Amino acid sequence: MTSLPGLYVHIPFCRVKCRFCAFAAYPGRMNDIPRYLSALGKEIQSLPATTIDTLYFGGGTPTVLMDELWRVLTEVFRDGIKITDGAEITVECNPEDSGGELFSTLREAGVNRLSVGLQAAQDRHLSALGRLHGWARFEKAWEDARAAGFKNLNVDLLYGLPDQTMDEWKETLEKVLVLGPEHLSAYALTVEEKTAFGHRGLETDDDLQADMYEFLADRMESAGFSHYEISNFARPGFECRHNLKYWRNEDCLGAGVSAAWYQDGVRRKNTENLTEYMEAVEAGRSPVVENIRLSEPERVGENLMLGLRTREGAFLTDRAEVLYGGVLRRHEADGLLVLKNGRALPTRRGWLLSNRLFRDLLSPAESP
Ligand code: SF4
Repeated sequence: MTSLPGLYVHIPFCRVKCRFCAFAAYPGRMNDIPRYLSALGKEIQSLPATTIDTLYFGGGTPTVLMDELWRVLTEVFRDGIKITDGAEITVECNPEDSGGELFSTLREAGVNRLSVGLQAAQDRHLSALGRLHGWARFEKAWEDARAAGFKNLNVDLLYGLPDQTMDEWKETLEKVLVLGPEHLSAYALTVEEKTAFGHRGLETDDDLQADMYEFLADRMESAGFSHYEISNFARPGFECRHNLKYWRNEDCLGAGVSAAWYQDGVRRKNTENLTEYMEAVEAGRSPVVENIRLSEPERVGENLMLGLRTREGAFLTDRAEVLYGGVLRRHEADGLLVLKNGRALPTRRGWLLSNRLFRDLLSPAESP
């Protein structure tokens, strides 16, 4: 059965720019919100009419404008894209602009999943990251979300922060687990050039990050979570359906600044420049700046790479065998994956050394 596509909608506004953040997020551009929403509505109307079963508002910080966003989008959805009953509808939010009233509005609008950005449980780290909230504000937002009726909550964490100890990382996990999340995403800090951390020339400790990852995986599994993707953990039945579409290389539409989407074997990406985006859409031009039809070897390699991000692994099709059999067997010998029952399945070591594993699957195919 072919699955329905999902839709990702990017909201590029934040109150401040976190020091590690390389996403398309523009503090100081709040005055552009009405113009952006109008362009976004226009872009969504221009997408192929279809029915979706996952909708994901990411950013940026979608909750800085939620009431208004929802009003514009419901108008747009009425005539174009339809959402199935029971669709997964996720909104990313930050603790500082969350609260009971907003959460109730989101629930009434049909949002059934929240992804709350925490990053760390110690205020000293939150302040060093440039976050506007402390642990107490996060806890309050969490309580408010539960009180509003949210039964599917994700928390986002970062590890390997400047000067972060293993004990602090353990404390973060324990404090979060006490709150009973359904889902947890945890990423090793990477320092990108264009971020404030990048400008400071900050470096990460790879060995400590690897130890933190090992602890994370063990602790989450012992707490009853499925480690279903390299950086994601879920209680049974709470895997993120939208993100699973990406990892299964299923169709996903996208709208907004920097949104990436995939449909019928073509990968597209919108401009990351906010002004360029609005001007293009207003003038009736496409905001897409990358439009790539993957070659067959690239598509096969990408399917393997995305599949190996997940616990379910990747199908070993005949073409995967022909094009990547040698690479896969080499990595199996190194303990990075297991070839079993027609699938390539990742090992913990494979996830720890994922850069090595994935690099070979994204490079031009080689024969066995
Ligand atoms: S709130 Fe999120 S999107 Fe905004 S700057 Fe911070 S990390 Fe980036």
